[in-house]
Amino acid sequence: MALIDMDESKVLDRITDGFFSLDHNWNFTYVNIAASQLLFRAREDLIGKNVWGEFPEAVGLAFYNYYHKAIAEQTPVKFEAFFPPLDTWFDVRAYPSSNGLTVYFLDVTTEKKLAQEDKQHYRSLFEQNPDAVFSFDLNGNYLSVNSAMEELLGYSEQEYLKLSYIPLVTEDEIKKTTELYSKAAKGITQNYETKAIHKDGHIVHVSVTNMPIIVDDEVVGVYGIAKDITGHKLTEQKLLKSEKLSAVGQLSASIAHEIRNPLTALKGFLQIMMASRDNIEDSYFEIMSDEIARIELITGELLMVAKPQAHHFNFENITEIFKDVKALLSSQALMYNVNIILESEDLPLIFCVGNQLKQVFINLIKNAIESMSVAGGAISITLSKKSKNEIFIQISDQGCGIPEELLSNIGIPFYTTKQKGTGLGMMTSFKIIESHNGRMEINSTEGEGTTITIQLPVHWVA
Ligand code: ADP
Ligand code: MG
Repeated sequence: MALIDMDESKVLDRITDGFFSLDHNWNFTYVNIAASQLLFRAREDLIGKNVWGEFPEAVGLAFYNYYHKAIAEQTPVKFEAFFPPLDTWFDVRAYPSSNGLTVYFLDVTTEKKLAQEDKQHYRSLFEQNPDAVFSFDLNGNYLSVNSAMEELLGYSEQEYLKLSYIPLVTEDEIKKTTELYSKAAKGITQNYETKAIHKDGHIVHVSVTNMPIIVDDEVVGVYGIAKDITGHKLTEQKLLKSEKLSAVGQLSASIAHEIRNPLTALKGFLQIMMASRDNIEDSYFEIMSDEIARIELITGELLMVAKPQAHHFNFENITEIFKDVKALLSSQALMYNVNIILESEDLPLIFCVGNQLKQVFINLIKNAIESMSVAGGAISITLSKKSKNEIFIQISDQGCGIPEELLSNIGIPFYTTKQKGTGLGMMTSFKIIESHNGRMEINSTEGEGTTITIQLPVHWVA
């Protein structure tokens, strides 16, 4: 019985896939036109002949192994294989049947070459990249590394392939790094900086990109690109340090200046007193005690801002604090003919260092009183709830105001327009409000008055 009748064979002739059938002895029973063209053999020459006899080079290749497997296991097989005598890649599907084996095949040489070229392009992007490039499986185990990566941390490719990234990241960075790696493994590219440990133990600052490897819409791994930024980091740290040092330097210079003046006066008077023990003028004592008080004031104010962590935060009633401050300053207010008006809504307790806020309010109200030293006037203090989590404090005076061009000086250590001023009150106040996670703003009109607005969170987590 013929395997294929004439009509069917015409159909098979028209399909562009090569097609042939073999019987149980591996002899050709049918070969279509495409197959004859693909194999460069006339159909008549093949029919009835043994496939391995006609194509001895295929013995031992994928063709031979897969066809035998298909027959032995009675299961279809599919594979791609290169056939050297024809310099051709074939895509092959073979189906066993009761008559033997039917084989469909295609020339895929062009596609294969393109794919290989793509692969080589990719390979060279990987190999020649000056940045470290590597890939991971979903658990963070290295699957491949390029030579820049071998250089970056000093391990060989073989050593990397036995490692995951985890032992290579410093302890203080591992939590963050793992979190970001997991995000990449879930499909979202991540850019971050972290610290890696070189094989010889030193720390390498790296800037890393992790991106998902997506195959058929599924993340199958993670690519990494890393750059050594140790150099950058070191200069950055040096800069920061020198900036801090210069700030400290500037501050010490001004403090030294501020304290040296009263000390010079004290020393001078002491010398005079020592030279003329009997006729010491009373005013000397007064001046000396004034100057000592000034040194006390300066060092006291500076201590207020130093070491904020040494202070204890508690829940405090701000309205009560203001009442205390008002009482404290009442005699000074009276002296300058100033009326202090305090208005307060029901406020929640505020998480703060009570004494520090008290110091801020004293500073601000003192400034307000001093700004009205000529004609007196009113200071109006309003305390209100801005939202559930924030309160508003407003202190308005009717004093001299601050010229706009001088506004930016307020808060600079030792900036003062007063003869006996320290120029530390506003700086201290800004720092304290900042350390309470609040904000302080100055609005002022020259000749009309000044309003200081403070926003404070009710509670916050440091
Ligand atoms: P000091 O009061 O010792 O001068 P501060 O730091 O408290 O130092 O204030 C700095 C400067 O800011 C003051 O000298 C003054 O010129 C200006 N200033 C602060 N508050 C007011 C105010 N309410 N009205 C006018 N000027 C003010
Ligand atoms: Mg002041």
